[in-house]
Amino acid sequence: MPIRKRSILLRDLRNYLTFLKDYGFSEIPSESGVTLELQSGTKGLPYSSIDTDKTSHMKTNKNITTKPNISIEDVREELGDCTRCNLHKDRKTIVFGSGNPHADLVFVGEGPGADEDEQGFPFVGRAGRKLTEIIEKGMNLSREEDTYICNIVKCRPLNNRDPKPDEIAACNPFLIRQLKAIRPKVIVALGKPAASTLLGRTVPIMKERGNWHEYEGIPLMLTLHPAYLLRAYTIENRRNVMNDMDKVLTKLKK
Ligand code: URA
Repeated sequence: MPIRKRSILLRDLRNYLTFLKDYGFSEIPSESGVTLELQSGTKGLPYSSIDTDKTSHMKTNKNITTKPNISIEDVREELGDCTRCNLHKDRKTIVFGSGNPHADLVFVGEGPGADEDEQGFPFVGRAGRKLTEIIEKGMNLSREEDTYICNIVKCRPLNNRDPKPDEIAACNPFLIRQLKAIRPKVIVALGKPAASTLLGRTVPIMKERGNWHEYEGIPLMLTLHPAYLLRAYTIENRRNVMNDMDKVLTKLKK
C-alpha cells in the first residue's frame, strides 16, 4: 500500500479509536468475536489484550457502496421488538424512521423525544416542526416524498438525555442497514451525536458543519440539530443551516 494511503488509513483508525474511547468504550469487538482492549494513555494503536465477546453489538461501518439487496422492511423486521439495550425499558414505541425509503436524501438525527415516542415517528415535536420547515419552506422539498428521516437510536432516552455509547452501539447496525437499504444520494447528519456516529469519531460540529464528508461513499453533510437551532435562534445559526442545505440541494441536482 502506498505510504500516503497508509498514513491516511492510520490517521482515520486513530480518530476512530479516540472516538470510541471518548464515548466510553474500553474494547473493540470484531465480527470474529475477538475483542481488542482499548488502553488509556497509550500512544499509537491502543490495543493490547484479546478476549472473546460474542454478545456485543458494536460493529464497524459496513461497505454500502454496492446495490442494496435489503429493503427497509427487512431491516425493520430484523429489529423486531428490540430489547438490545436498556432504552427499551422506558419506551412506548420504537421510532424506526419515516418518509420515502427510496428518497435521494436522508436526515439522521439523535433519538426520539417524548412526542416521537408517543406517536412512533421521528421529528414530530418542536424540533421536528423546525426540521419540516427547513425541508419544505427552506429547501422546497416534500418531507414525506423527497426525504427519509431516522435517528441513531430508535428508542427514547428519558429526559432528553444524550444516548449512551452502548445504546448507540446496539442501534448502529440498524442505522447502517437502513442507509444500505435506502442508499441515498446525500445524507445529512443533524448535530454532533449523529455526525460523530456516522463518521466514527468525535466531531466538533460547530467547526465541521457545512463541510462535505463521506459515509461509505455517500456524500455526508453535517449541520446543526434543529433543537439546537431553536435554542440558539441567531441569524448566524439560521443562515449557516440554510447555507448547508443549499449545498445539499446543489449536490442533489448533480
Ligand atoms: N430529535 C431527534 O434527534 N430526533 C427526533 O426524532 C426528534 C427530536
